[in-house]
Amino acid sequence: MSTIAAPTPKVKNAQPKDYNSPLFAELGLPSDPNNLYRQTVGCMLYGAEVMGLPNYLQQILAQPKNEIMVHFPVKMDDGRFQLFKGYRVQHNNALGPYKGGLRFHPDVHLDDVKSLAFLMTMKCSLVGVPYGGGKGGIKVDPRKHSKGEMERIVRRFTSAIAHNVGPEYDIPAPDVGSNSQHMAWIADTYTFLSEIGGSNPTAVVTGKPVEYGGSLGREKATGQGVVDTLVEMLPELNLRPDQCTFSVLGYGNVGSWSGKIFQDKGAKMIAVADHTGFIKNDKGIDAHDLAKYVDQHGGVKGYTKAGAITKEEFYRTKVDVFIPAALEQMVQETEAAWLDCKVVAEGANAPTTPAGERVLQGRGIEVLPAILCNAGGVTVSYFEWVQNKTFQSWELEKVDSLLNKHMLGAAARTRAARKKYNCELRTAAYIAALERLQKAYEFRGIFP
Ligand code: NAD
Repeated sequence: MSTIAAPTPKVKNAQPKDYNSPLFAELGLPSDPNNLYRQTVGCMLYGAEVMGLPNYLQQILAQPKNEIMVHFPVKMDDGRFQLFKGYRVQHNNALGPYKGGLRFHPDVHLDDVKSLAFLMTMKCSLVGVPYGGGKGGIKVDPRKHSKGEMERIVRRFTSAIAHNVGPEYDIPAPDVGSNSQHMAWIADTYTFLSEIGGSNPTAVVTGKPVEYGGSLGREKATGQGVVDTLVEMLPELNLRPDQCTFSVLGYGNVGSWSGKIFQDKGAKMIAVADHTGFIKNDKGIDAHDLAKYVDQHGGVKGYTKAGAITKEEFYRTKVDVFIPAALEQMVQETEAAWLDCKVVAEGANAPTTPAGERVLQGRGIEVLPAILCNAGGVTVSYFEWVQNKTFQSWELEKVDSLLNKHMLGAAARTRAARKKYNCELRTAAYIAALERLQKAYEFRGIFP
């Protein structure tokens, strides 16, 4: 039982505590308010109510179109066979092919993948790229397998889902636990399995190595987008990026790039946490140096230029900006009450639970929502796909400047929705995403 009293929201027109869409019961969504799928879809349905989205669209968007689960055997280095479980969820393709990452993690479940696929539909719509939403994964701990075992797992998974993906139909990308090497194996396996026509089958995935069809700027794109959003949104909160202090939860792709790029804008990183530990240095932690250390040692633990602290001390560290960039639901009621920051910039997907968010709202802490803040990754994935399909390679300056345009456009659409509906930023971001989807549905109609 929580001991934290429900606060009176200080954030203007915050989502009410007892919001309960009739669709939750109608569609048989889980009754637990902290269930990840109910959390993510619930935010969208609240935005839909505020803007008056027709019920049939709420119903369509509250459920994924396809949920694919596969089981496949792989030979381990010692000659034994192990059976693996893989997922691909295709949420919606009204705006274009399904698009979204592949998570390699031992705790991957269908509900998480459904939630993440749903978020991709919203994110792609908000940031203005012609994609729908999808997500997938393999229940596997990549740290526990040799390179050879991972290659066989990834290639066999690709062959199991090959008929359900494709450069014009569903385009995976990296997510937690997966990287550009894995994407290269997927692209190669898919190319081998597909009939070579006029197109480029390696466009079946993005986030590939630059040497093999990847785009300059893709690796850092999500962190770059987080910082582009911060630079755009902080002044209206009376904060200057070059005078900010910040802490980062998760120092993988998104966390480390957010840290490095925000530091390069003049901000100072005070505390960092990942699955290995929590560290702090009031004088600042060099984000580039820490990233090199994490690459070599697998985590922040043992980094001698900062002191080890507890989980509670990490969350209680006084900073201007807190960037959660690890897994979902890591800011619950307790962590939200501990946080001593002015802004939460959601680098991770769905890092804040509804209960956690109410505590933040009650304390007047602004949340820059994930579908806005972390949309940089899919945006540059789109650029990679365009380059693959047109056999081009763009300069980094072009990628960065187009990314910035998309991020600023998404921020402007979110602000406009906030003004029009007088709501907080998360609801506004969903409304801006829903407005584009609604227009597309109005034109295309429902077949037959
Ligand atoms: P990653 O695997 O590179 O890094 C994940 C980080 O989370 C690691 O530092 C890991 O140590 C940390 N972590 C894991 N479990 C933890 C725990 N229990 N406590 C503290 N830290 C923990 O993954 P990533 O690609 O950086 O993704 C991070 C988040 O950003 C995810 O929510 C992902 O869906 C989201 N995201 C990623 C991208 C992308 O382009 N990679 C794009 C959009 C959103």
